[in-house]
Amino acid sequence: MDNKINSVVKDTLLNLRKRGVPATPNEYHKEFCKVSKTYNLSVTECKQFKSLVQKLTKNEQIEIKAKGIETFEDMIPVLLNRVSKDQVNSLSKLFQEAVTPSISIGVNEELKKFSVKIGNSPALIFEEDIQKEMQEFITQRFEADKKIVKQKTSDIAKLLTLMGQYFNDAIQSSGKGSEEVSNIKSQIQSIDMENTSGLEELSQLQSQLIDAALSIENEMTSVGEKLHSGKSDVQKLEQRVQELEKELDKTREESAKDHLTGLLTRGAYEEAIKRIESAYERTNNQFAIIFFDLDHFKKINDTHGHKAGDIILSTFAKVLNKNTREFDIVGRYGGEEFVAIIHFNLKRELLKYLKRIKTIINDNDFIYKSEKIHVTFSAGVAIRNNHSSYENAIQKADMLLYEAKEGGRNKIIIEDGTVI
Ligand code: GH3
Ligand code: MG
Ligand code: MG
Repeated sequence: MDNKINSVVKDTLLNLRKRGVPATPNEYHKEFCKVSKTYNLSVTECKQFKSLVQKLTKNEQIEIKAKGIETFEDMIPVLLNRVSKDQVNSLSKLFQEAVTPSISIGVNEELKKFSVKIGNSPALIFEEDIQKEMQEFITQRFEADKKIVKQKTSDIAKLLTLMGQYFNDAIQSSGKGSEEVSNIKSQIQSIDMENTSGLEELSQLQSQLIDAALSIENEMTSVGEKLHSGKSDVQKLEQRVQELEKELDKTREESAKDHLTGLLTRGAYEEAIKRIESAYERTNNQFAIIFFDLDHFKKINDTHGHKAGDIILSTFAKVLNKNTREFDIVGRYGGEEFVAIIHFNLKRELLKYLKRIKTIINDNDFIYKSEKIHVTFSAGVAIRNNHSSYENAIQKADMLLYEAKEGGRNKIIIEDGTVI
């Protein structure tokens, strides 16, 4: 063995000298290992290099072969290309952050374990299996985040839809509507925006929407209150209008009635005759137009006083009114002059009416302040059917009254010549 080594040493030095290479430790080592092989000598130092090369990465081994590296010294630059431990540490930290979902908060147990493993031995990240696992975690991480983003997007859409609905309902509704609107607000509130870290903007948006909803609600309440008080003002006004309408009706009725006699005024009579005329055009039911005028009334006033005259006028009016049927009319045409429209089928019905009035007035005295006052009246009676128009008929009645006065008063003259 010693001989062999001596021969190897000799040959090594000879070879170096032959090649003109100085016997530096490195050159000597290379040549020594080469020569020892030819002597079939097993040298630990030579084997150590080989076994170390085998432990290197594939790429490093390829590099060492290509460059013909045979010594530890020459291997140093190759190894220097390797990443430092510090760098591996920060790289593994970077990776851990990369695989941890930033939006989805649920970190799964497997990932946690894997992360711990890498944390303990950062150099593992260079192993193929580990790298495959890393790839999977990264994919998972993106999937998880994507899912959350998708869900939140639909939450935002839901929020916006609800808010739109809120606005619509708030604008359209009043009173009970605010309850429904408040319902929508609760729905906005109930969307779970809090369970995701890193999504503060979303829960911020949500609370902004809720604030907006609240201020709409307040606005609505105050508008509602205003409406409500406005409503009661309107109700008061309506009540007042109704009262005024009633008063107006009463006034209308009163103005339709003569204040002294309670009969229709001249104006109310003119209105009534329009209705009677249009009914006459349809039915041709005949009627009489009668003008009554108290005789020498001026004299009565003069003798007994105006007050007595008033009482006589109102009493005469009562007699006419009592004897006139619902569908006939009687009015005060002027001072002591009255008009009656009396429907009849047979002439005797008309005569009966006229005679009754005359008898009552003739057979009774008016009593004023225990004074008996006797009054007569004259009348002219025209029959509507005998005339082409109402105007002609009333003119005729007026003429007949005049005739009755001329003829000595206390007379009723009908246009067919009958005198009562
Ligand atoms: P004749 O028989 O021609 O009808 O005579 P007369 O005096 O009745 O007629 P005239 O037209 O000359 O006078 C009507 C009188 O009736 C005059 C007026 O003072 C009176 N008179 C009119 N309206 C009223 C009233 O409301 N009350 C009273 N007390 N008298 C009235
Ligand atoms: Mg008169
Ligand atoms: Mg007169």
